[in-house]
Amino acid sequence: MEQVNILIIGAGVIGLAIARELSEEFDDVVLVEKEGTFGKHTSSRNSEVLHSGIYYPQNSLKARLCVSGVKELYMYAKENDIPFKNCGKLIVANNKKELYILEELKINGEKNGVPNLQIINKAECKKLEPQIIAEYALKVPSTGIIDTHKLMQKLESEAENNGAFIVYEMEVISIDALDDGYLVNFENGEIFEANTIINCGGLHSNKIAEMVGINIERENLQLHWCKGEYYKSSKIKDIDHLIYPVPDSNGVFLGIHLTINLHGDVRFGPNAYYVDELNYEMDEAYKSEFLKAIKNYIKIDEENFHLDDCGIRAKLQEKGGEFRDFYIKEESEKGLPNFINCIGIESPGLTCCLTIAEEVRKLLKN
Ligand SMILES: Cc1cc2nc3c(=O)[nH]c(=O)nc-3n(C[C@H](O)[C@H](O)[C@H](O)COP(=O)(O)OP(=O)(O)OC[C@H]3O[C@@H](n4cnc5c(N)ncnc54)[C@H](O)[C@@H]3O)c2cc1C
Repeated sequence: MEQVNILIIGAGVIGLAIARELSEEFDDVVLVEKEGTFGKHTSSRNSEVLHSGIYYPQNSLKARLCVSGVKELYMYAKENDIPFKNCGKLIVANNKKELYILEELKINGEKNGVPNLQIINKAECKKLEPQIIAEYALKVPSTGIIDTHKLMQKLESEAENNGAFIVYEMEVISIDALDDGYLVNFENGEIFEANTIINCGGLHSNKIAEMVGINIERENLQLHWCKGEYYKSSKIKDIDHLIYPVPDSNGVFLGIHLTINLHGDVRFGPNAYYVDELNYEMDEAYKSEFLKAIKNYIKIDEENFHLDDCGIRAKLQEKGGEFRDFYIKEESEKGLPNFINCIGIESPGLTCCLTIAEEVRKLLKN
């Protein structure tokens, strides 16, 4: 049986960032992942956008960790040669009702500390983005894009250089609380004894919490998987900003938006619908929904519009439910000292990876 000081479960961007952060200060940090390498799930299936923090309720973890997270991630990317672009984004409005939503978003963003927000008119929009149909837009200069794979690669190598061990093909199947620590069983028959556990299991983080005896229904920690698909179009070129519609009124997602990658290729999505299975297969069932949404802000050639990729969100917010914040908590109150859960780390989780890691370090020190 292996003795481990800190065991982190899940090598997505969150587990990797936490491994890097904690291995700077603590010895014997081990990160285990059930897949053969890092980032095989949500962390490689997203929009790669560094969000500004305008959307989230004031004083929420999402707002606080995103506004500081985006600044830190730009700095980290610059210092470590991780490709990124601070391209900014435009949230477009084409009627008075949508303009009102932009004004509300601007106020909310300013209260959250998002810098330099500005509502611009049709002529100013045209100057910035000649192809985009918009009467008004909220200009969000701090938004950008990043190469997520390179980011995870760097976090992994820094964690390892700090002395952390990262072990792949290690699926946690059960966890027992001991008087002083935790006994962890793996699918391959290995057993670890750990003083501290940090659950970064993404779509399965609720199941990992359940393994240690947390009643996730009573604690309202059930995850609701919500799929999002992307389409690409090679005909649309020369877009400089990310283009978003006003967000979905239920707060489930940000609306089918246009993103560019670091090569300038254009993608649309994701949409959002709740699913029961972890299945990344796609068909064109939602194509007309996509085209309808996109035509509100850009002319699109339907012939040149193809399915690209998809991801699944780990949402605490159920269908028709209220906003839910990230759940990042040390569980002494539940009789589980030094067990830290990171559950419901949906968007803007990528943007917040460094600040979530700092939050976890603070929880451990307390
Ligand atoms: C469609 C979509 C678009 C998004 N766009 C953005 C965006 O533009 N900007 C942004 O900031 N955020 C975005 N997000 C959110 C962001 O991608 C996530 O917040 C982030 O990737 C979550 O990382 P994670 O490490 O928690 O999860 P994951 O990347 O899913 O990692 C969890 C890991 O845990 C492992 N695991 C699970 N169970 C076990 C077990 N029992 N034993 C061992 N390992 C286990 C899994 O294999 C997995 O590798 C988006 C998400 C989606 C779905």
